[in-house]
Amino acid sequence: MHSIGKILIDEQTLMKRISEMGEEITRDYQGKELVVIGILKGAVMFLADLVKQIKLPLIIDFMAVSSYGRSTHSSGVVRILKDLDEEIEGKDVLIVEDIVDTGLTLNYLADNLLSRNPKSLKICCCLDKPSKRRSPVKVDYVGFTIPDKFVVGYGLDYAEKYRNLPCIRVLDDDNIE
Ligand code: 5GP
Repeated sequence: MHSIGKILIDEQTLMKRISEMGEEITRDYQGKELVVIGILKGAVMFLADLVKQIKLPLIIDFMAVSSYGRSTHSSGVVRILKDLDEEIEGKDVLIVEDIVDTGLTLNYLADNLLSRNPKSLKICCCLDKPSKRRSPVKVDYVGFTIPDKFVVGYGLDYAEKYRNLPCIRVLDDDNIE
């Protein structure tokens, strides 16, 4: 089955909001040494569009953590698959994530990165699904708050597919194995 669900957030709406977020981050980090950490693979599209709207010198680094695999439900287990290339001690760090759902992933990542003594640590998410939160996490910049639906596109996958869609779509139940 290759048909997918309806559009939740179209490309134009994504770009407009990301441009606003970039302006806000640019204001907040004036004169600071910003390190933007993208969480692979889901945040790749969001990070690429967001950093173009941050008018400051910055460094980009990536981490990869285990995700849900082929399931649409969180196992609660987080594993680092790829660590940062650079040290972040004394740096102003911004985590850029695709979506916060239960909060388990970001909670783990924030604790892990805080133990490396950055000067500051903030979190920026494209999407927030607050209804499923199990672990409290303070997200400093949120693109869109969405209902509790499994979404794909704009970096987000289902079984590694659909990441290249330019918009966010809800995955229909008949596409979930
Ligand atoms: P959390 O640990 O907050 O439950 O989940 C975070 C991760 O779960 C995200 O980085 C993303 O990989 C995955 N995830 C959560 N909700 C969705 C969703 O609706 N669609 C997709 N494709 N992934 C999701």
